[in-house]
Amino acid sequence: MTGTNRAALFFEPGKPFEIREFPIPEARPGGLTLRLTRANICGSELHIWRGDGRLGQIITPKGRILGHEATGIVHALGEGVTRDWTGQPIAEGDRIAYQYFQPCGRCRSCTRGMTEACRYSFTIQRGSHDEWPYTRGAFSDYLYLHPNQAFFKVPENVTDTMIVSANCALAQVVMGLDRVDVALGDRVVVQGCGGLGVYACAIAKERGAEMVIAIDGIDERLALAEQMGADHLIDFRELSESKQRIEVVKELTQGWGADVVVEVVGYASVINEGLRMLGSAGRYLEMGTFYTGTSFECDPGRLVGQNQRIDSVGSYDAISLQRAIEFLSRNAERLPLDDIVVDYPLEQIETAFADQASGRVRRVSLVM
Ligand SMILES: [Zn+2]
Ligand SMILES: [Zn+2]
Repeated sequence: MTGTNRAALFFEPGKPFEIREFPIPEARPGGLTLRLTRANICGSELHIWRGDGRLGQIITPKGRILGHEATGIVHALGEGVTRDWTGQPIAEGDRIAYQYFQPCGRCRSCTRGMTEACRYSFTIQRGSHDEWPYTRGAFSDYLYLHPNQAFFKVPENVTDTMIVSANCALAQVVMGLDRVDVALGDRVVVQGCGGLGVYACAIAKERGAEMVIAIDGIDERLALAEQMGADHLIDFRELSESKQRIEVVKELTQGWGADVVVEVVGYASVINEGLRMLGSAGRYLEMGTFYTGTSFECDPGRLVGQNQRIDSVGSYDAISLQRAIEFLSRNAERLPLDDIVVDYPLEQIETAFADQASGRVRRVSLVM
């Protein structure tokens, strides 16, 4: 692998990926070059691959390198880079987890301390493959980290298969459950048991949730949700009607409804059902549907009458990534954190996408 920088180019939905070689980006002052070891297929990439919503418009004729949920080892440090974002010394060969976007640090959102909402975060993903840093997505061998992309050294007891989901799925869940203040005694419903869903079960329990109810329709995912802390499972193959599922949540919560419902299915069609599972002063957390062009039904009188609220989180701030890493280290021996992903070599990216889209496999991890 040394000396070559392979990357998978995506052109448009329905067209196969093409693997090409690019130069390895040099590390410039303040930044670093990462040799990627693995990158997951995130739900957002599945939506792009399928052409859901309006995401299809981001494609270009020259192709785009997708991939952002990833991890790697330091290949080269730029001038002046000696420590990670907690102040630990960093050296070539160290394993790291990184923020895959770069908040600008000086816009209105950043100034208010909400770097997760910076509208300039993703400008680093734009540009031509012919110009440095060439490969701007993680379905490649090498990636350049810009000076303001937070990165952290990975603790020894956290494996690559555990850490690879930290910089998108897990950090977003950490920030999301914080935003809706999941607290001691809360009753939480998790809609969808993919990567984000199973993490939401575990983090909700860690934050003191009295009860976590997980909903899905695939045995393997439901089993993993249970191992990650879900107390009750709702299988939508058995309870095929929305009304039945809402009733079960009401029964399990002695008629009150859930304090928090988390949407990590990725389709707007489940939101109304989730809102109806909420009890008085309930909080709905929307995290799964991040492409525009769809909508959902909502009875505003229900929200107002019961003092409910809807929150959403689309990415995360640097501290959430650090907390995600600490969560993994703290639970490395206790939870099945190595079982979230299934490995495929980068060359099999086409099959990997098809298999993940079919729901047959858990979160796919492309190994470089
Ligand atoms: Zn993602
Ligand atoms: Zn900003």
